Amino acid sequence: MRWSRMFVPTLRQDPADADAPSHRLLLRAGYVRQLHAGHYSLLPLAVRVRAKVIGIVREELERIGAQEMLLPALHAAEPWRRSGRWDSVGPEMFRLTDRRGNELALGMTHEEIFTTLGLELTSYRQLPQHWFQFQTKFRDEPRPKGGLMRVREFTMKDAYSFDIYQAGLDASFEAYRTAYLRIFERLGIPAIPVEASNGAMGGTGSTEFVRPADVGEDAVAHCPSCGYAANVEKATSRLAPVADEDGPDAPEPFDTPGVRTIEDLAAGYGAPADRQIKTLVHVLDGKLTLVLLRGDHALHEQKLADATGANDVRAAEPDEIRDALGALPGSLGAVGVTSLPVLADEALRGRRNMFTGANRDGVHLRGVDVARDIPSATWADLREVAAGEPCPACGTPLEVFTALEVGHIFKLGDRYTRALDLAVLAADGGRVHPLMGCYGIGIERAMAAIVEAHHDERGIVWPEAVAPFAVAVVPAQTDDPEVGETAERLYRDLRAAGVDAVIDDRPERAGVKFRDIELTGIPHRLTVGRRSLAEGVVEHTVRATSETAKLPVAEAVPHLS
Ligand code: ATP
Ligand code: MG
Ligand code: MG
Ligand code: MG
Repeated sequence: MRWSRMFVPTLRQDPADADAPSHRLLLRAGYVRQLHAGHYSLLPLAVRVRAKVIGIVREELERIGAQEMLLPALHAAEPWRRSGRWDSVGPEMFRLTDRRGNELALGMTHEEIFTTLGLELTSYRQLPQHWFQFQTKFRDEPRPKGGLMRVREFTMKDAYSFDIYQAGLDASFEAYRTAYLRIFERLGIPAIPVEASNGAMGGTGSTEFVRPADVGEDAVAHCPSCGYAANVEKATSRLAPVADEDGPDAPEPFDTPGVRTIEDLAAGYGAPADRQIKTLVHVLDGKLTLVLLRGDHALHEQKLADATGANDVRAAEPDEIRDALGALPGSLGAVGVTSLPVLADEALRGRRNMFTGANRDGVHLRGVDVARDIPSATWADLREVAAGEPCPACGTPLEVFTALEVGHIFKLGDRYTRALDLAVLAADGGRVHPLMGCYGIGIERAMAAIVEAHHDERGIVWPEAVAPFAVAVVPAQTDDPEVGETAERLYRDLRAAGVDAVIDDRPERAGVKFRDIELTGIPHRLTVGRRSLAEGVVEHTVRATSETAKLPVAEAVPHLS
């Protein structure tokens, strides 16, 4: 590749309105241009990085036996109606109508669509199946920002696993968890796995991979001692604050008039109560007495018992939780699993984001709802509560940092296979709805996260595995035939040796070329200059350290390949 022929529109100055380092540098170094808010064009250097990121993700997924596919981006409404998400998703989904009046959506995720394909599975003998794709997702984000980090159109690697039994799903989930750790390690993204809630996807087990970043939108409580981590942002409520007094005269606590109970609340969200009430906390006389965790959260039980001092912590089915809601006296909270210690603490201290109401038997309730996100104004409160809380695993005070989600893996269970009636023959002759997992990584967000982690005051410093080129060969003088010929020969030999090299053959001063090569973050520079050539050497400069070494001309290619 010849720099003189490439379109790399680097900028002299930092662009205005680009605060995040990745946003500023990807614009400045000529990688991306915004078409309109939330939609970016990737220029040639960015396309090369993207291909390398995709290559690494693909390799690690193929290593665990996943198969690549490519499903449509434009979906009929029908599978989304069957899962209930046509109505529950809301304005984040772009919707359109074709010339016949059929309703369509631009895919924001593909659970329904992969499940539709899975209808051709007939027997347990075909399972597990692991399917993935690299595909454009469309999401009408309320606030696109931060360059590539939050856009309305992006490439997602989304993977879906189908297993016959829980143990199979657990094993698949674990395989992806391990693959994700390897992927982020190879990409140079310092990602931390964090327990998280499931958001709009439904289901139980869920791990987010996050990296600390000022530009992030999640707050993560992290234990510096044992590594325990939980997403604080998800531990939030959008309910109105409640006045301090309890009792029948307490003011209407909910946004929606007429909503008095947790079940009303869940129904108000358009979801069955068991989807919302994941966990139940019972507070009696200011003491936490019972914690019920929905589903298979046995792992958390001891942690929670220790952290909260509750005398009864156990897993429960949604029905049990609902029944318990009706039976218990005192104050109750329905909370998300991830941040239970934080919320239990909130419940005990009677802080805001509490709600009060009566259950169907007229028992007065008080609690915390965490099913939905909270306006960012209250994050500070949550952080304050979470920071200094005892780590539920080891008791060390938690630290809270702002984080950016770079990947997310979920156990979906049979939610989609049931809704779309995907059932296979089981070993005992019966029919079973396979259990699904889903696993996402945003490719362009990963690119931005790499830049966030790898840059300095002169520009981007790509890790070699994802750099657009490994080596830039620079003839320092453009009017010296020997310099030009040597540089051309080194460039050709590097490429012949399989090194991803580019030659900066522009008729520019050496300083201009050096600046662009540093700004664009190419890991190695090989400078051919008149003076050093007279000594029989060329100069090798490492971008990350700025170290320069002289190499005899004949040794340059073997040294770099
Ligand atoms: P966020 O919490 O940042 O909105 P999400 O939880 O909605 O992300 P998922 O549905 O879990 O995202 O999608 C999987 C991955 O897709 C995310 O971990 C992230 O890497 C990427 N991603 C999600 N939304 C965007 C976006 N608007 N722009 C770029 N990448 C995104
Ligand atoms: Mg989102
Ligand atoms: Mg998220
Ligand atoms: Mg997510």
